[in-house]
Amino acid sequence: MIRIAIANQKGGVGKTTTAINLATALAASGWRCVLVDLDPQGNASTGLGLKQAERVHSSYDLLLGEASLKDAAISTMIPNLDIVPATVDLSGAEIELVEYEDRTGRLKAAFDKSDSHWDICLIDCPPSLGLLTINSLVAVDSILVPLQCEFFALEGLSQLLQTVERIQKRFNPDLAILGVALTMFDRRNRLTDQVADDVRSCLGGLVFDTVIPRNVRLSEAPSHGLPALVYDHRCSGSEAYMNLARELIGRMPARELAA
Ligand code: ADP
Ligand code: MG
Repeated sequence: MIRIAIANQKGGVGKTTTAINLATALAASGWRCVLVDLDPQGNASTGLGLKQAERVHSSYDLLLGEASLKDAAISTMIPNLDIVPATVDLSGAEIELVEYEDRTGRLKAAFDKSDSHWDICLIDCPPSLGLLTINSLVAVDSILVPLQCEFFALEGLSQLLQTVERIQKRFNPDLAILGVALTMFDRRNRLTDQVADDVRSCLGGLVFDTVIPRNVRLSEAPSHGLPALVYDHRCSGSEAYMNLARELIGRMPARELAA
């Protein structure tokens, strides 16, 4: 199972929107996917139509070792796409985890026990660099960074890259940056254009060619409990996420996809 964390410590940059729609696009292309909602706000779970009562097991149980990945994953309305939902318990997990000696490796341990049911796992990270995000960076092969085209985008990024370096040194030497996805791009806005150019000249090939446009359909879909790809599969946002999925698969080493 290929494991990818969708992370950026800034809130509102498109992590959850990317997690939901990329997972849906990958599942629609035939990959067996599991999305792990690691944000206590549970927006990915809600956005995929999961009611509170359906959240029997959660990512909290995974971290605490109370459920296996297989037990915690529930199927969604999308064929090939399962989700490990988040519940409010997760908001206490950062504090509870401090008690454990292996506090940074608990998600990885859960993944290592049972991961043969899926081809790809995406993790929707919370907007912080706390223990939840660290657990996911220890557990994954690579990180996908959604970056909103706004003035301070690059400043936040350097802090994230420092965290990635620290995780590589201490816990996960193979952790790779899969790519940076520019989100909420508005071509009529000269500042976003300028920021996109700056990001590309700074990060080069790390930036995905696919750009996610600002698209109101993407922001409407979660209130219907649907991925945009189901809510309106022809909107520009849905098309962009299908392209991003294609590009992402193209960046995967063939041996990892076969594993
Ligand atoms: P994060 O998970 O990083 O906090 P979200 O994915 O929840 O970010 O996005 C923040 C807000 O912006 C949400 O209301 C979402 O619906 C909206 N949004 C995200 N991406 C887009 C987009 N490309 N176009 C329009 N709205 C978007
Ligand atoms: Mg989110």
